[in-house]
Amino acid sequence: MSQQQWIYLNGEFVTKENAKISVYDHGFLYGDGIFEGIRIYNGNIFKCKEHLDRLYDSAKSISLEIPLTYDEMQEALVETIRRNGLRDGYIRLVVSRGPGNLGLDPRRCERANVVIIVEQLALYPEEAYKNGLVIVSVSTRRNLPDALNPKIKSLNYLNNVLAKIQSNLVGAGEALMLNSQGYVVECTGDNIFIIKNGVIYTPPTYLGALEGITRNTIIEIARKEGYTVKEEPFSLHDVYVADEVFLTGTAAECIAVREVDSRIIGEGKAGPITTHLLEEFRKIVEIDGVKVNYD
Ligand code: PMP
Repeated sequence: MSQQQWIYLNGEFVTKENAKISVYDHGFLYGDGIFEGIRIYNGNIFKCKEHLDRLYDSAKSISLEIPLTYDEMQEALVETIRRNGLRDGYIRLVVSRGPGNLGLDPRRCERANVVIIVEQLALYPEEAYKNGLVIVSVSTRRNLPDALNPKIKSLNYLNNVLAKIQSNLVGAGEALMLNSQGYVVECTGDNIFIIKNGVIYTPPTYLGALEGITRNTIIEIARKEGYTVKEEPFSLHDVYVADEVFLTGTAAECIAVREVDSRIIGEGKAGPITTHLLEEFRKIVEIDGVKVNYD
């Protein structure tokens, strides 16, 4: 990455110090907006299409007009990465409703703000992928899908922030959230999988989980590798007695969990299927996506 970090702000490249938007932006006032977190691996924007599809679907769902076409947005991503000379890292793409007045009516917001930030990233050290994370379930319930559909990757993360505060209090790495019926849904920034007797389970998204792109990638890889993957509801009990548990997310990739609510999972370290899936996942991250030309 070049010395100077350039941030894309509505078609211009500005320094971090100058990357400012109005305090009247409804993203700030009301969490009214959407975002994506995307990875770049050795110059490859991993699953670029899937992320942009989710962004444009989220925008349509909340009646937010993105002031760039799909192709222009992809070009803006590529150009931001190129300007920063970034080969491996994380991209945060935010589209907020834009500045309006203090009322929440989005009709007062004339133009959405588009921000692209690219940074280097190492969420977890490599040992964490072998040793696994310690997580806890929390009392904060995941947003009800009929109140705020989890398919919309909105800027409204207060629900997840509250869960994170709870896991921080006990020093755990992640907070596992249930829905109002007590079914396991997801963590604050990751989807969850459990493995029992060789079968892989993950909660269906209608329970309230985001349809994670890493989640879908892992399901695809697992099926290709001959595993049975079932999207079906399960409870905390099923997590406690699982042979393996792992989380998936753009930043976390596919990371094992060794302990949930003080119950040791399996051997207390990354299990063989989780390790295999991570290996297969890492084989495609530099291939599947859009390549950046740095010339
Ligand atoms: N759930 C939530 C709540 C998230 O914020 C994320 C991260 N975007 C995920 C799951 C994982 O999704 P993805 O694999 O698309 O990063």
